[in-house]
Amino acid sequence: MRQEYDYVIVGAGSAGCVLANRLSAKPDLKVLVLEAGEPMQGLYHKAPAAFPKLFKGPYDWAFSTEPQALLGGRVLYWPRGKGLGGSSGINAMIAIRGNPRDYDDWRQPGWSFAEVLPYFKKLETHPLGPSEYHGDRGPLHVEVRKYTNPLSLAFVEAAAQWGLEHNHDFNGPRQEGVGLFHVSQRNGARHSAATAYLLPALPRPNLDAQTGARAHRILFEGAKATGVEYRHQGQLWRVRASRGVIVSSGAVQSPQLLMLCGIGPADSLKSLGIEVRLDLPVGQNLWDHLALPVIWHCKAPVSLDKAENLANTLRYLLTQSGPFVSNVAEAGAFVRTRPQAPAPDLQYHFGPAFFSNHGFDREEGYFFTIGPTLIAPQSRGFIGLKSADPEAAPLIEPRYLKEPQDLEVLRIGMEWAREIAAQKAFDPYRGQPHHRQAEVKSPVEMAAYIRQYAQTLYHPAGTCSMGQVVDEHLKVYGTENLYVVDASVMPGVVRGNTNIPTLMVAERAADLLLGV
Ligand SMILES: Cc1cc2nc3c(=O)[nH]c(=O)nc-3n(C[C@H](O)[C@H](O)[C@H](O)COP(=O)(O)OP(=O)(O)OC[C@H]3O[C@@H](n4cnc5c(N)ncnc54)[C@H](O)[C@@H]3O)c2cc1C
Repeated sequence: MRQEYDYVIVGAGSAGCVLANRLSAKPDLKVLVLEAGEPMQGLYHKAPAAFPKLFKGPYDWAFSTEPQALLGGRVLYWPRGKGLGGSSGINAMIAIRGNPRDYDDWRQPGWSFAEVLPYFKKLETHPLGPSEYHGDRGPLHVEVRKYTNPLSLAFVEAAAQWGLEHNHDFNGPRQEGVGLFHVSQRNGARHSAATAYLLPALPRPNLDAQTGARAHRILFEGAKATGVEYRHQGQLWRVRASRGVIVSSGAVQSPQLLMLCGIGPADSLKSLGIEVRLDLPVGQNLWDHLALPVIWHCKAPVSLDKAENLANTLRYLLTQSGPFVSNVAEAGAFVRTRPQAPAPDLQYHFGPAFFSNHGFDREEGYFFTIGPTLIAPQSRGFIGLKSADPEAAPLIEPRYLKEPQDLEVLRIGMEWAREIAAQKAFDPYRGQPHHRQAEVKSPVEMAAYIRQYAQTLYHPAGTCSMGQVVDEHLKVYGTENLYVVDASVMPGVVRGNTNIPTLMVAERAADLLLGV
């Protein structure tokens, strides 16, 4: 460890790992990444199907929202990755870019879809590439599935019978339709941002990664960020950054760190006794994707519910194949609930198993779950501070369903999920609807079901938005040498899962910082 680096990156998550790799590729730049968690290891981290077993474990911050008024007052559990790889180390590995329109709608110079497509290609090694849409040289390996359950194939067929077009590549020319998800895996194992980007770069003499290092505050000289104060092994340390401090602590904790340093909404900072450095809408514009589990019994013993056994464990350990390679959410679809919608507003996630309450609810038997997901929510919430203590959890207020249209999209999603499940392709498998949804018929009953069972799909973003908190170079307004690079800078929704878009943001940020 040195006392001074060119860049200090706070957080080795999806974005932080990309930056650590790309910036340290220049041998004359000295780069440090500080990560609060530890290296991630073990079978649950590696074997894709085990991702829910990481929840509430050592690699999960396990946050909680404020009680959600429109979800029956429920407090929702929000997993976020903690350790090298961040949330890419505990996520479900679905590789989706979103809709091209999303990036055009951001309306930020340099971030239109045409301008970010080269970065989507640069970040991946895709089995369909190279092409207009895919790359074959990038650090992140994508697989077109090494394991797919027969129920997922039935879902694809049923949705096609219902009227959706087959789509073999949601990241190709067309997002709409139904198909199997591609996944960020390599040889049947999770390929996190740490495995893809950080670990291969660590032998470089100009890159250091300090784990167990929790940033408490950013150090300033006037408006210029000059370093970071962090806790490591019970002691406070300071490190200097001559070119920049890059906050990559994720959509929950990047705004928290800025607010702790007096950058945020002035009134709420003052109420906690924090001296205001810059009055900016930090933490505002929080958006997230809400998902609803709609579950059926499966009458054939094929689902993943009983896949955890010795034979499958050995098969995975010996050959990295079989059901453990499943990422659970194996298939999906993108649809518009209104024909006049500019792009899909609903995504289906299909899981060949009982999947409710993040996998914590278990039931005896075989099941399948269709998960309509709100991907263009109108509701916006915020991240705030509960206290000025840097080790305290921040306040998470997503304000789910605040805009009535969001409830309606999910309600239609539930109705259509039932229509899809009723198609012929499911005949060999479809058992009774799970008792929770059996009596749910009228729109009012569906709304009540949604309020009771909807959960996060783990995609919070937007809390240090471009154009509001950071400029298009991702520099915090009114500061020097201070940047935010992660999912929090996305000013508008991405219609799809957010890991690949976050990697893209960081790839482009690296070029901006390097002046490429
Ligand atoms: C359970 C789950 C499932 C998901 N499934 C998918 C999926 O299938 N497909 C998909 O595309 N997306 C998925 N996502 C979302 C996706 O993984 C995230 O959007 C993406 O990883 C966010 O990257 P990030 O860099 O913004 O933040 P993160 O990857 O969360 O990284 C932030 C890092 O900063 C560290 N940190 C925070 N505060 C501090 C501090 N003060 N000091 C030091 N370090 C700090 C954290 O420990 C963490 O490592 C999922 C997410 C979760 C949690």
